[in-house]
Amino acid sequence: MNGSPSTDQLTRPMVDPFGRTIRYLRVSVTDRCDLRCFYCMSEDMTFLPKKDLLTLEELDRLCSAFIAKGVRKIRLTGGEPLVRRNVMTLVRSLSRHLGTGALDELTLTTNGSQLARFAGELRDCGIRRVNVSLDTLDAQKFRAITRWGDLDKVLAGIEAARDAGLAVKINAVALKNMNEEEIPSLMEWAHGKGMALTLIEVMPMGEIGEGRIDQYVPLSLLRARLAQHYTLTDLDENTGGPARYVRVAETGGKLGFITPMTHNFCESCNRVRITCTGTLHTCLGHEDASDLRKPLRASADDDLLSAAIDRAIGLKPKGHDFIIDRRHNRPSVSRHMSVTGG
Ligand code: SAM
Ligand code: SF4
Repeated sequence: MNGSPSTDQLTRPMVDPFGRTIRYLRVSVTDRCDLRCFYCMSEDMTFLPKKDLLTLEELDRLCSAFIAKGVRKIRLTGGEPLVRRNVMTLVRSLSRHLGTGALDELTLTTNGSQLARFAGELRDCGIRRVNVSLDTLDAQKFRAITRWGDLDKVLAGIEAARDAGLAVKINAVALKNMNEEEIPSLMEWAHGKGMALTLIEVMPMGEIGEGRIDQYVPLSLLRARLAQHYTLTDLDENTGGPARYVRVAETGGKLGFITPMTHNFCESCNRVRITCTGTLHTCLGHEDASDLRKPLRASADDDLLSAAIDRAIGLKPKGHDFIIDRRHNRPSVSRHMSVTGG
């Protein structure tokens, strides 16, 4: 077929070869971070040259193209999204899609270190919920995990977000011999403040200067331990995401489990990811990558971009390739989590 694509082609919902409609876009706005969590990055990470990054205007155009093609939810992530210079310009411009009803939700995942500064403005821009990653409430352990982070700053960020009226969900990566014993108290703390807690299994992404086997603890084990002291009732709700939730009778709170290693959730995956250089990854656990920067820059209209997105969605893999065991103590996927933002 010759000529320009029809509006229908530019706006047709994205359905992958396994019948999954793509409604959720995660956008890593920077690969940089003000922390160096040991399971995410090596201490001496090499970051992308700034010249390789899409501008905020280009990121907006890219996100808007996905919205035109049926994306209803966008999560900004990183690296640390709040360290990207002028990131609020992007948040504010994307929030127009909330105003028109084209987008149901704009949200972000953050380490919380800059939240105190931005919470009010985020709320102003129509953000209603944020996920804050926090693996421990012990200041020394926090420093050990993040290599130099300040727990008090994150706690202040969480309070500022709550004061601004944002719902906060806490995400914690379960780490062997590090925070596994602390999970009950972390949960009690979060639930005591009305915040859900989601536990995440460590995933073998990127070279971090050590093997994963020493970090990995299966959540099935932690769940069994929690069940000895708490009444956990499975919740039926399907958020379309990878988390499975339980209600904890004793606290009244919600506890989620993201278990890529012990339970594969790919069959209902409705999401894709773009990086700050405009690379599209249709699966977190695969090496697949499609360059969208080139078609984005090649033309002022979105025909080439839309066609490139369609081609990539047409290749979305059925599921991920994660393995951690003694024989596979190497990254399953070479890129770091900070490239795609989890
Ligand atoms: N900097 C922000 C933060 O920490 O929330 C956003 C980006 S961070 C890469 C997103 C999430 O990925 C965090 O909850 C982090 O704990 C998690 N993460 C990083 N590396 C991981 C890994 N190898 N396995 C599992 N989760 C990981
Ligand atoms: Fe930074 Fe988030 Fe990775 Fe920690 S998990 S190093 S806060 S990007």
